[in-house]
Amino acid sequence: MILITGGTGFIGSHTAVVLQQAGYDVLVIDNLHNSEREVISAIGQITGREPAFIEGDIRDVSLLAGLFKTHHIQAVMHFAGLKAVGESTQIPLTYYDNNIQGSITLLQAMRNAGVRTFVFSSSATVYGDPQRLPLTEDHPRSATNPYGYTKLVIEDILESLYRSEPGWKIARLRYFNPVGAHPSGLIGESPQGIPNNLMPFIAQVATGQRKQLNIFGNDYDTPDGTGVRDYIHVMDLAEGHKTALEYCNAQAQTLLTTNLGTGQGYSVLEMIQAYEQACGKPIAYQVAERRPGDIAACWADTTYAKQTLGWKADLGLKEMCQDGWRWASRDNTGQQKRGQDSFNTD
Ligand code: NAD
Ligand code: UDP
Repeated sequence: MILITGGTGFIGSHTAVVLQQAGYDVLVIDNLHNSEREVISAIGQITGREPAFIEGDIRDVSLLAGLFKTHHIQAVMHFAGLKAVGESTQIPLTYYDNNIQGSITLLQAMRNAGVRTFVFSSSATVYGDPQRLPLTEDHPRSATNPYGYTKLVIEDILESLYRSEPGWKIARLRYFNPVGAHPSGLIGESPQGIPNNLMPFIAQVATGQRKQLNIFGNDYDTPDGTGVRDYIHVMDLAEGHKTALEYCNAQAQTLLTTNLGTGQGYSVLEMIQAYEQACGKPIAYQVAERRPGDIAACWADTTYAKQTLGWKADLGLKEMCQDGWRWASRDNTGQQKRGQDSFNTD
């Protein structure tokens, strides 16, 4: 059985689908801070069986100890965490406690139970402001906000753990910009309040929830002046996790650190155009000031993932926008009941 922390969230839920469809048994633990219990039944609808679900917090030592005792867990995929960059600058201690302490508590429970296979959600944010593109895994790391710092620290904790005793099989997966949704339209990303990430914001302009998109700067040193990112379909990302798990399982021990991206950068204007084609409506926008802390461009070198995992992203911009739109245009009255705070999420 595979334990997925944060498994009702955006990336964890899509990974749960892929793992179940590959024949794995899945146990989800999530405190529902940023997701809904209904995701479990949606995963059941897609795959034909619901994963086991525990509502709880990864910082709960006795809950975790009990969980490893009562379930035959072979590996852990660790998605649970807070991910809003802006919020992390306002409540850093909450971020350090939830993300760093949460990971330590989880790893201690694994160690006590003799489970040593661990797949971690890291981020391209660990590369800071790129000194060169495309980003290779050996690019220097840095952090400019507490959220990014939690990823750096957890990466380092995992390295120390790997070196401390034999048998650990650890994958540190650095995601670029996950977008899109499962093609069924039954699961997807549910940002709280006003989304500051590009794709969910465009989606809400398309549904009429927002009047127009602000493009944060058109004077960057990029082909059309707008920011360039490596957007990756969440289903490709989920497949990447399955492949990383299988890679770990095949090793006696390993510390794998790899990018999960497409290797292709798209500008904000290109994203708008692609989304317009998917939803069949114009996306209203205006050019606004640059967003503080933004970098001009960022995309992955995918060579290492191809070489080590034999994995590459297959889905293009068209599928990212079509699948994202199918999810965004569903009846989302339930989602709109959520809070109105707005934070930029990674
Ligand atoms: P998400 O918020 O949709 O999912 C995270 C889930 O973890 C949520 O369901 C939340 O309720 C749960 N959670 C948070 N703290 C918890 C705790 N202490 N105990 C139990 N559950 C807890 O986020 P996501 O986009 O699916 O991201 C998953 C992981 O990937 C995060 O670690 C995030 O930092 C990382 N990541 C995300 C992106 C992105 O753009 N979405 C990019 C790079 C890395
Ligand atoms: N962006 C934008 N308007 C928005 C949100 C984002 O112009 O409302 C731009 C942003 O400046 C960046 C790109 O879209 O160039 C992707 O931003 P996002 O926040 O989704 O990802 P990140 O910057 O964290 O990689």
